[in-house]
Amino acid sequence: MTEEDQALVDGVRAGERRALARAITLLESTHPEHRARAEAVLEALHGHAGRSLRIAISGPPGVGKSTFIESLGLHVLSLGHRLAVLAIDPSSGRTGGAILGDKTRMEQLSRDERAFIRPSPAGASLGGVAERTREAIIVCEAAGYDVIVVETVGVGQSQTAAAGMVDAFVLMQLPNAGDDLQALKKGIVELADLFVVNKADLDAAAARAAAGHIEMALGLLRPSVPQWRPPVLLASGLSGSGIAEFWEAVRRYERAMRECGEFEARRRRQALEWMWALIDSGLREGFRRHPAVERQVDGLGDAVRDGRTTPVAAAAILLRAAKEP
Ligand code: GDP
Repeated sequence: MTEEDQALVDGVRAGERRALARAITLLESTHPEHRARAEAVLEALHGHAGRSLRIAISGPPGVGKSTFIESLGLHVLSLGHRLAVLAIDPSSGRTGGAILGDKTRMEQLSRDERAFIRPSPAGASLGGVAERTREAIIVCEAAGYDVIVVETVGVGQSQTAAAGMVDAFVLMQLPNAGDDLQALKKGIVELADLFVVNKADLDAAAARAAAGHIEMALGLLRPSVPQWRPPVLLASGLSGSGIAEFWEAVRRYERAMRECGEFEARRRRQALEWMWALIDSGLREGFRRHPAVERQVDGLGDAVRDGRTTPVAAAAILLRAAKEP
């Protein structure tokens, strides 16, 4: 490792926010040389990571995630924690500007030295964003942040990706009855460890009704861990009501998971899934870069799209081509 990267590692270990930000920028770089350096930095930090509670908060745009996370963040800081907020925003890849990143968000929180807030990397595919977020979690933990919040918008794939990298997956809903049923259809409800009906200040009765709907839907599901029945909580990120209770519930969940061994088991499963995700994307990239594939891939792709070649035949040709030395 170069002296510069060693200094970066030391800076992260010392909890310096600037070093942390620089390390994450290095991770997000797509430059091959930077990638090799990023991997070395990650390797050096990995042994110091893991001692945190990782929480994902997911919900549709406008449900109040950032407002809630700011309230929650200030609360957990007041309890003596250090908090990192990372975002997975699939729209940032397509538009180049992150929905989660471009508005002025969590102002009070971002001014606090004990908090670190990082928007989604722009210009990356969802797979790329998710991989970088996993890595950023490691770096934040090595820097001493003991509560990690991953924020993600309510799109199936990004929710699944987020659930696969945290200890607790929180689904946030608005107090209207349609939303919970939609979520159920997408199979996302099964992923959630806690539910929040947010903006309960707007209409308390509607919020209670929405919570009732979700509870009913949950009653039809078999809990993924018998030791935990996902609670449905009411909150208002704006007024701060329900925030302390939410944090209590997260802590209760953590204790229950640790006691039955599921906490560690889930992390070990996620580590293995992470390895396979990297292998899959590495193989795919190697495949695409293979000269014989590069030569034929566009032509065959066009032929498949126009119906001149079957997908089966085209895939077989390309896979065979990739085996050429
Ligand atoms: P996000 O897109 O999910 O991050 O949502 P935001 O946190 O940006 O909030 C969207 C809008 O809802 C903003 O105008 C907020 O002021 C408002 N909002 C957020 N939380 C609450 C809440 O608890 N109650 C009410 N009444 N409004 C809220």
